[in-house]
Amino acid sequence: MIIVMKAGAAKRDKDVVLRRIKELGYTSHVIHGTTRDVIGAIGDERGKAALQALENLHGVENVLPILQPYKLASLEVKKESSIVKISDTLSIGGSQIVVMAGPCAVESEEQIIESALAVKKSGAQMLRGGAFKPRTSPYSFQGLEEEGLKLLAKARDLTGLPFVTEVINPETADMVADYADMLQIGARNSQNFALLKKVGQLGKPVLLKRGMAMTIQELLMSAEYIMSEGNQSVVLCERGIRTFETATRNTLDLSAIPVLKGKTHLPIVIDPSHGTGNHHYVVPMSYAAVAAGADGLIIEVHPDPEHASSDGAQSLKPAKFDVMMQKLRLFAEADGRTM
Ligand code: PEP
Ligand code: MN
Repeated sequence: MIIVMKAGAAKRDKDVVLRRIKELGYTSHVIHGTTRDVIGAIGDERGKAALQALENLHGVENVLPILQPYKLASLEVKKESSIVKISDTLSIGGSQIVVMAGPCAVESEEQIIESALAVKKSGAQMLRGGAFKPRTSPYSFQGLEEEGLKLLAKARDLTGLPFVTEVINPETADMVADYADMLQIGARNSQNFALLKKVGQLGKPVLLKRGMAMTIQELLMSAEYIMSEGNQSVVLCERGIRTFETATRNTLDLSAIPVLKGKTHLPIVIDPSHGTGNHHYVVPMSYAAVAAGADGLIIEVHPDPEHASSDGAQSLKPAKFDVMMQKLRLFAEADGRTM
C-alpha cells in the first residue's frame, strides 16, 4: 500500500504514520517528493484493511493499493524518474546520457589504462571492465579477480572515471564494493536472489542486467529484491534476450526502453555489445537506443580486439568508438539531452 501525505504535512504526522506501519508489521520506505512525501508500506498483503485505516490519521491525504507485484520499483509509488548518483559530479537518469565503456575483462595494467585513456578522450563518463568473469565454460579466462579491481582503481585514479564491474557471488561482494563505484549484476546472475539481497545491503549503485530468458516483469522483481533491502540506487540494463535468431548473439530488445519507462522510475541503460555480439551492429544499435530514450549505454571497447581474452568480436576499437561518440552526441541533442 502507499500512504500519500498531504502537501506540507508536519514531521510529527509522518512519524505517527511510520510508527503505526511498524506496529502493523510492515516495512516503510519514505519517498520524498517535491511537494509531498509518499510512504510505501511493504509486507504481507493480508493486513491491507488495517493499513487502509491510516487514511484517518492527521496529515494523510489517502491510502492506495499498489497493483503491481513490484512495489518500490513501480511508477505507482514514485512518479518522477529516479536519478542514481554515481559520484559527486555524475548521475544516471537525469538529462545527461551516460556512456560506460571499456573492455569485457581487465587483462593487464597496460590494457586497462590504455582503454581508460581512450574512452575518456572520446567522452565516456564511466569505465567498464570485468575482474570476476562469469564464463559459460570453466576452462575460459575467469578474470584477474582482486588484482583486476586494483588495476581498475588505478585507471580511475589516472583518468577520474568512476568504474562499474561485475560481482558474481555474495562471498566476494564486499571486496568488489570496496573498490567499485557501481556494482554490475550480470545476466547469468540476475535471478540469484542471495546475491541481489547482498548488493541491496551494500549501499553502492547497482547496474542490474536483464537475464537472457527474463521477462520485463521478472527484471523488475529482481530490482525489487535489491530495493527492498534498502538500496534504491538501481539502474536497469537491457543486454539482449535469447530468441530463435542466430544471426546475432542475442536479440536486443529496444522496446524494453519504452515498456520499462511506462512501468518504473528507474533509469535504463542499453548494452548493444552483448545485445548483438558483433562490433558491426554495436554502432547503429547505440544510436537507436538513444533515440528510443535510453539513459545510458554500456559498450565494450578494446585496444586490440583480435587478441582480447573475451568478447573480442563485439568490442569496438578506440578509433571506431570515437567516431561513434561524436555522432551519438547529435542523437542525444535531437532528443534534448546532453552527453
Ligand atoms: C559483461 O558485461 O561483460 C557480461 C558478462 O555481460 P552479461 O552479463 O550481460 O552477459
Ligand atoms: Mn563481455
